[in-house]
Amino acid sequence: MPIAEKMVKMVEGSSLIRKMFEEGAKLKEQYGADMVYDFSLGNPDLPPPQQFRSALKALVNDEGLSHGYMFNAGYPHVREAVSGYIETEYGINIPADLIIMTSGATASLNDSLKALLNPGEEIVVPCPYFVGYNQYAFVANATIATAESNEDFRLNLSNIEKAINEKTRVMLINSPNNPTGVVYSAGELKQLGDVLERASRKFGKRIYLISDEPYRKIAYDVETPSVFNAYQHSILVTSFSKELSLAGERIGYLAISPEAEDAALISKAAAVANTMFYVNAPSLFQLAVAKSIGSKVDVDIYRRRRDMLCEGLSKAGYEFTTPDGAFYLFPKTPIEDDVLFCRILLEERILGVPGSGFGRAGYFRLSYAVPDSTIRDSIEGFKRAIRKVK
Ligand code: PLP
Repeated sequence: MPIAEKMVKMVEGSSLIRKMFEEGAKLKEQYGADMVYDFSLGNPDLPPPQQFRSALKALVNDEGLSHGYMFNAGYPHVREAVSGYIETEYGINIPADLIIMTSGATASLNDSLKALLNPGEEIVVPCPYFVGYNQYAFVANATIATAESNEDFRLNLSNIEKAINEKTRVMLINSPNNPTGVVYSAGELKQLGDVLERASRKFGKRIYLISDEPYRKIAYDVETPSVFNAYQHSILVTSFSKELSLAGERIGYLAISPEAEDAALISKAAAVANTMFYVNAPSLFQLAVAKSIGSKVDVDIYRRRRDMLCEGLSKAGYEFTTPDGAFYLFPKTPIEDDVLFCRILLEERILGVPGSGFGRAGYFRLSYAVPDSTIRDSIEGFKRAIRKVK
């Protein structure tokens, strides 16, 4: 075997989405890109807001712009700007030394998991869950323990309580959620906080709550409550990938509640992890986001697409929970075998991702970060696909 044995499983694990991607690329070559309805990737397609573009232009035109190394945790004034934003958005004062600028939410997750977990410890995640979590757990030498969510994808607290044991160190949640679009309520989070406090006491070991929130600003008429009000031992991990449409620029941050047990130690460990993985977050984009923090892409466009897709699929006979946030729809597959159904969709030149990839068979994920025309022109294909199996 030419590659590390432990990497073999990781390569196999990423094959489901990669296969769809490769087959989609073939179809695009054969029929032309606009004849293929690609809902497979959560790649934001809206332009970043004007405030960000102006800030970036001004920075690039500044002859004095520095390109050197910096503090691994990021520019102090940028971390101050993030601290000010968090105070407005979450109502909590998190000092800059508990904030680390990172290369996207991926880095925020890798840093915080690496900081917290001993080999063999467990991360509890509500299921279905974002596929990347398997990889971050792998990097941290940890294991994912899943807790099935309710039918409407809300947290099932009794399943969470059952999934926690003496090996649990982290509870990892994601709201607004990929793949389901669910946004957890303040009440749900508070109850989760109570479960974590009880379990920490029971096992004599602090369990931390990591809240992965890159879609926070993409929510439709619902409150996105502050996790810090629900549980004091919380760490926010996030990025500007979605709210500013900067996924390729790799910029985000993590922020540790000052009330969390050993907050300063965790911050130091996460900063060292940051050094190991990515050294520091991209310097130009730290400066640019500091000048545009709080702005966001035009969320009404995502809302319009959500409504178009929901209406079209509902008329076609698909069943789903209407998403309150992010840009994903997670319908039931009309047959049990989600991989087979995604193949049937492929015959209609529609690309979706089987729910099995997110730990929930019998569903499929559609990303509506796509042009309106992709949604409009695909609906007949969705209708034909359901007719083929019913
Ligand atoms: N967490 C979730 C739930 C995501 O959907 C993604 C990306 O799609 C990430 C984390 C990683 O985001 P980033 O591109 O900022 O690393």
